[in-house]
Amino acid sequence: MKKTIDLRSDTVTLPCNKMYKAMCEAKLGDEFYDDKSITRELEDYCANFFGKESALFMTSGTLANQVAIRAHTSPGDDIITERTYHINYYESAPTADLGKVVLNTVESPEGILNVASVEKAASNKNRSFGGNDPSLIVVENTINYHVGKIFPLEELQQLYSYATQKNINLHIDGARLLNASVASGISAAIYAEYAHSLMVSFNKGLGAPFGAILLGTHEFIAKTKKYRKWYGGGLHQSGLMAAAALYALKNNIPQLSVDHRNAKLLANQLSKCEKLELLTDSIETNIVMFNIQKYNIDSLRFVEMAEKIGILLYPWDQYNIRAVTHKDVSENDITVASQRLLESLDNETATVKA
Ligand SMILES: *Cc1c(COP(=O)(O)O)cnc(C)c1O
Repeated sequence: MKKTIDLRSDTVTLPCNKMYKAMCEAKLGDEFYDDKSITRELEDYCANFFGKESALFMTSGTLANQVAIRAHTSPGDDIITERTYHINYYESAPTADLGKVVLNTVESPEGILNVASVEKAASNKNRSFGGNDPSLIVVENTINYHVGKIFPLEELQQLYSYATQKNINLHIDGARLLNASVASGISAAIYAEYAHSLMVSFNKGLGAPFGAILLGTHEFIAKTKKYRKWYGGGLHQSGLMAAAALYALKNNIPQLSVDHRNAKLLANQLSKCEKLELLTDSIETNIVMFNIQKYNIDSLRFVEMAEKIGILLYPWDQYNIRAVTHKDVSENDITVASQRLLESLDNETATVKA
């Protein structure tokens, strides 16, 4: 039987045996009672690793973002961000419902939020006579929608100094920040230096089953602890999952550069297929996207067809498909997946249409 090659996301990875072992052997304890469990160890390790005062373990990236928003803003405030960032593209509903804040979005063709566009967004409304204020800027790194692009450090530095000067906080949605760090050679702590808070996921390229870390000052994290509890993210025996996250952080970072190499290989192979159009040839991290409109079928049908030949892909939007590399697909898997696609696309798409 053909091996299924799963490129839907880097969240599909499974724990390796050593990670399971680390989970089984972890020192547990009830987080609510502040027991000295491995969760505390993970948080201390993260605070040190990312160079922030304090850290809090979160069940998911979404919870980390939402709790950060709640702690940084007051209901009615503006959050300035880019239209395509996760915070708007996927989280506008929880942001409205839980944070009760307004997403003031800027559209940039390159997907990079900069000072000029933030200033424009800040001044595009009348703030007098009881108008609301912008109190948070959210940046994404790497940028999922823009094919895993790295947010440039210089732009971040400029935004941070602008934000600080205007008394606005800057939060990095760094679900894949370690991908940015490994690819750019810039340490995660350097990126973190130019943010008042940041979130980094364990459940993506790092290969843990669960969770994210939220980082910031002692004062900020103390505040977020309350909101995490309100939102149902106050865990008790969280050590099982914290142990997996700590294992991932200590062992799986080098894997990210393998993933990046595999993404480049995949893009290179797929570029041989005339009818598939890569959204970009410059693959910066572990995400590849391509347009399939020339096959005259939509993404959902394309994905169904790919599944039949043992390849799982994500239908990003109507005609664009996303493929993500991760620790559970090897270089050989990528070669096999590309071959299968190149060999059968014309036939299979014709059959789907018939
Ligand atoms: C995946 C992702 C999130 C949300 O993380 P979950 O753990 O799935 O809730 C937030 N931001 C970005 C950029 C992401 O890619």
